[in-house]
Amino acid sequence: MTGPYMMPAGRYAVDIAALKALKSVYWGQQGWREGAKPDEATAALLRAAGLWTDLAHRELTHDHIVTAAVEVAARTTPADVRSAFVGSLRSRRLDLRSALASLAYVRHMPAHRFSPLAGADGPCRICGTADTFELAEPNLLNFERFNWGGVRRDELEYCVFDLLQFARAPQAAPGDEDYALLAEIIDTLRSLPPRTTANRAAAALTMLPGNKDERTGFLEILAVCGILQTARCPGFGAAFVAWEHRPQPEGKNDLGYPLWCWTAGDGVDSENLAALLPSLAEPRNG
Ligand SMILES: [Zn+2]
Repeated sequence: MTGPYMMPAGRYAVDIAALKALKSVYWGQQGWREGAKPDEATAALLRAAGLWTDLAHRELTHDHIVTAAVEVAARTTPADVRSAFVGSLRSRRLDLRSALASLAYVRHMPAHRFSPLAGADGPCRICGTADTFELAEPNLLNFERFNWGGVRRDELEYCVFDLLQFARAPQAAPGDEDYALLAEIIDTLRSLPPRTTANRAAAALTMLPGNKDERTGFLEILAVCGILQTARCPGFGAAFVAWEHRPQPEGKNDLGYPLWCWTAGDGVDSENLAALLPSLAEPRNG
C-alpha cells in the first residue's frame, strides 16, 4: 500500500537547489505565496529530486486515514525515528526531526471508526478528523516538513504523510556531538526560571542551530512526546489523548498542544525523556 499520498517511489534527494526551489514555490519575502505553482524548470528539478508529485489527490474518509495511520505507525521503527531526531539537531535536517512527533502522536491511537460528539456535526471526538475531507496538497506538506519540521502535528493526515516520507528519507546518523547538544538543551530547559514560557524557552536555545520558528517547533515535538507536558495537558508519550480531552488556550496562542500549556516550572518529564534517550533522563551533576 502506498498510503493516501502518492509521492514518487524510492528515496528522495536532500539537494540544496531543489530544497530552495521547493521553498520558493510556497514562501517569499512577504511570507506565504498563495496559489503559487512552480514553473516547468523548477518542477523538473523537484521531480528529479523526488520531492514533487503532480498526481491529483482525492477526498478521503476519516476511517481511511485512521487505518493508514495505524498501518504506517506499525511499519515505522521507533529507534530509527529517535536516531533521526538526534541526527537532525546539528545538521538542521528538519525533514528528519518531524517524525518523532508524528510517530508519538499515532503510536498509541486506537484503531477506531468516526465517532462524533453526541448530537454534533463536528469532527471525531477521538482524533479531531472530519468524517470526509479533501487531503492537503502533499507538496505543501513537504515544504512544511523541510522548512519547520512540520506544523500540523495533531493532524492525522500530516502524521501519515510525514511517516511515509520518513521511510523515503536519506538518513543522517547522529554522532557524539549531537547527543551532547541534546543534553545541553535539556540542561538549559531544566535551569530556566519557573515562569519562563515556551516562547521564551525557545529563544533561550541559542545553542540549537536554526531560527526561532525551528526552535519553537523543536519544543513542540518534545511536548507531543510528553517530554514537556503538564498534568492538565499531557503529551502522547505514554497514551493517546483524545481530541475532546485536549484543553485549548483562551485567547490567542500560536503554540500547538500540549506545548501551549507548558512553562519551565513544569520541568522536563524524566520518564518520557528516558524513552527518547535513557542517558539524559536524570539531571546531571556538574
Ligand atoms: Zn477519529
